[in-house]
Formats: sequence, structure tokens, C-alpha cells
Amino acid sequence: MFSGPGLKLGRVMGIPIFVNWSWVLIFFLFTVMLESQFSTEHPGWTPTQHWGLAALASLLLFGSVLFHELGHSTVALRYKIPVLSITLFVFGGVAAIAREPERPLQEFNIAIAGPATSLLLAGIFYGLALPFSPNSMFAATAMLLAYLNALLAVFNLVPGFPLDGGRILRSIIWAKNKNFNRATQLASRSGQVVAYILIALGIAVALLEGDWVSGVWWVFIGWFLLTAAKQSYAQVAVQRVLDGLRAADVMTSELPMIDRSISLEDYVQEVLRTGRRAHLVLGNNELVGMISLQDVHGIPRHEWPSTSIQATMVPIDRIQWVQADEPAMKILERMQSTNVYQMPVLRDGQVVGMVSRDAMLRVIQTRLQFERFAHA
Ligand SMILES: [Zn+2]
Repeated sequence: MFSGPGLKLGRVMGIPIFVNWSWVLIFFLFTVMLESQFSTEHPGWTPTQHWGLAALASLLLFGSVLFHELGHSTVALRYKIPVLSITLFVFGGVAAIAREPERPLQEFNIAIAGPATSLLLAGIFYGLALPFSPNSMFAATAMLLAYLNALLAVFNLVPGFPLDGGRILRSIIWAKNKNFNRATQLASRSGQVVAYILIALGIAVALLEGDWVSGVWWVFIGWFLLTAAKQSYAQVAVQRVLDGLRAADVMTSELPMIDRSISLEDYVQEVLRTGRRAHLVLGNNELVGMISLQDVHGIPRHEWPSTSIQATMVPIDRIQWVQADEPAMKILERMQSTNVYQMPVLRDGQVVGMVSRDAMLRVIQTRLQFERFAHA
């Protein structure tokens, strides 16, 4: 859902933990914000103490977010759903689970485990702070973390998908209407509504109360949630229209072929003449590889006449194959993760066709258009 996982920190419970680059910026912003809070509330402390505790509290918040994600992960693992990675980014983290839960109750328990963990942490920090004087550095830091963890729990319980509260909402709708896709659709629509409310509140706080810092934060969080909600909505729409389709349904059985001995220059002319962007490469009438316009991209123009396609093609043992009965959604995910946009289709070891991302996008677009038209 978010660009590149970022920096790998290590593994916890066998799950690789990543930090998104945006966290570096947030860590800095948080430290600055907390420093100003500490220096207002505890003017007696030295600047080194203000800065040191602010940085420590930011690090502990980071650890708290990790605990929140581990809370989700523990429950997912208990249901035998593998957790691929945990990525910590701007306003929290994402525990990427290998597949969607099978039953509404599983989804409900996985979703609620995160905020429950945060509330538990809030309670622990609160308990740690209580016996000490509120003006001591230990109590001030622990109390702040109790507050931040409670905030993390409450914010994540907002009923907008893909936040935890949105997942809880989805599991409830799902349990009621037994339709997972429809439930996701409603939950992400609710996410968009929540996002617009946050943006409107942020603008109001900035304009009416003159509190620009809080206003900008709210607008930023709202915009972020809006993007995430729209993305997950689009993903579900794509899943819905591709549901039940397999490679054999979306492939073209046309198999453009070309001999390995021709030059890149001639190959590009062939592509421009026919508009076909991917070819199987033959040598002595045997399949030896595959070439597409994408493979030509990195080669300087002046080398085209003297370079053979044999030197440029993807050799047969590195071709990304598709089986004729492979689900279309899975192929699309493979195309996205490998950046290979044309894949030949095999049935019983024979090449029977070609799937391309262009063709799949056309299918998706046409089916979405048809849905709209059929509902009108
Ligand atoms: Zn969560």
C-alpha cells in the first residue's frame, strides 16, 4: 500500500521489521514538539534534559507502535495467517499479513488486538508514573507515553478502513451480510467520510482558532487516510471484477515470434509496424527466450543496429511463466512485484498464449464500466 518498505531493523518472532524513511522525519518533528512541551511544563530542567527526554520519548513511542503491530501479528499467527513483514511509517505501522482472514471473527480479533495492546501499554506507563512526583523526569516521560499510547489506541479505533476501527467495522458488516467485498466497500467509504471530516476540522481549527500547527497536522492525517481508503477501495474493486477469471480467460492466443538473429534496430521497426510489444524468440525453430519493448529500453540507440536480440532477450530459463489456470488477480500481483508486464501462458507444457498488463487493465476497465452501466 505504501512505497518501498525502507530500512530493515531486524526480526521479531520471525517477522522482518522495516522502518519507512518517513519515520526519520517524524522522529525529528516529534522530538522538536516534545522538547517544546517539556520546556514549557518543566522550566527547571536543563536544555540537555529537555532534548534528551524528548528524543527518548520519541524512541519509546516508536517501540510502542511496534508493540501495537506485534499485537495484531500475534493474533494473526494464532490463526495460522503468516505475517510477511511489519513496516513502521508516519502515523503507525502496517503488519502485512499473507492473506485476508477467513471469518469475520478472525478479522475482528486481529484488528482489535492492536488498540488493545496500546491501551495495555498506556496502563503500564501510567502505573509506572504514579508512585513518583509528577515533576520527576521519570514520571513526566512515563505519563507522556501513557497519553500517547492511549491516543494511538483511540485514533486507530476511528471507524474508517484501513484503520483498525475500519477493519472492526468491516468484520461486523461482513458477519451481518456475509459479503466480504461489499463489507470492504462500505468500510472504506466510511474511511473516506472520516478523512473528509478530519480535513474539514483541521481547516476549521487553523482558520477559526488560529492554531495552524494542529490544523496542518489534522489535514495531513486526513489526507493520508483518504489516500489509503481510496487505494484499498480500488483494490477491492479490482479484486471483485477479476474474481473467477484465470489466465486462459484474459490471454491472447496470438503468439508473435521472431528469430534471434535479427538486430535490435530491426526488432524495434517490427514493434512499431505491428504494435505488438512482446515476442517469443526462436533459434533453429526452438523457443530460446522472450523479448519485449521494455528490454530494449536500457540500450543506447546507436548500439541497436549492431546488437542482436539474442543478447537483449530474457533467456528461456528466466522467463516468468503463467499456468493457464492461474487466477488473474494473482498474475496482476506478480506483474506488479516483478515489473514484468508480459508473461507467456503454459498449458500442459505448451505455450498457448500471452497475458499482458495492458490487456488485463482493459478487462478491469471494461468490467467496471459495465457495472456502472448495468446499475444505472
Ligand atoms: Zn493497528
